[in-house]
Amino acid sequence: MKISNFYSPNFSKKKRPNNAIKIIIIHYTGMQSERESMIRLCNPRFKVSSHFVINQNGKIYRLVQDNQIAWHAGKSCWAQYKNLNKNSIGIELVNKGHQFGYTTFKKKQLSSLTKICKSLIKKYKIKKKNVIGHSDVSPLRKIDPGEKFPWRQLANNKIGIWHSCKPSLLRKYRNIKILEKKDKIKFIKNLNKIGYYFSSKKKSFLVKMLKAFQRHYRQELINGHADKECLIIAQNLSKKL
Ligand SMILES: [Zn+2]
Repeated sequence: MKISNFYSPNFSKKKRPNNAIKIIIIHYTGMQSERESMIRLCNPRFKVSSHFVINQNGKIYRLVQDNQIAWHAGKSCWAQYKNLNKNSIGIELVNKGHQFGYTTFKKKQLSSLTKICKSLIKKYKIKKKNVIGHSDVSPLRKIDPGEKFPWRQLANNKIGIWHSCKPSLLRKYRNIKILEKKDKIKFIKNLNKIGYYFSSKKKSFLVKMLKAFQRHYRQELINGHADKECLIIAQNLSKKL
């Protein structure tokens, strides 16, 4: 795996030990061009960075060393972890994103991502369930890497988790409301078990959290409503943990 070294000054002064690395967070750059993204991620004025950037041809750049804390996650929570920069490796995929023209992730880009994730998982013993997207950990603020990101394909390579429900069966439960309170509670419990962190009980928060879950695990319909399809998926996923 070829990695080109680049340098971003945007990282914390204090180094971290290897065992602080628990999570991989996947992003998209969400800018007009690769060049623009690289400039931003390396400019001290913006105070943002990531450990790696993968362009659409699959070229991998290292911007920050693994033992340095890059600034990619911002305010974020996952399972028992908070403010995830200190516990995570950030990987940016070049993609214009929802604002400038969200496109399918390229094959070469995904193949490089797979390679780098495999090597990081092995090196830092990262749990499968801790390979996640920015929107999973910052659902109020972020929607990257978005619903075109092929989580299922990655899970086939043991990167991240995916459910084992039959799509044709699931489809029948789409848009069927969860009516019983105990099912609603079970659903939230399962999301929690997967890693989603509920910092608020407000409806607006729950809607965004649900959209984050859907963007990851039910990409065909992202509406923020809890339906039985989502319930079944969450139940299936939580059983694997
Ligand atoms: Zn992001």
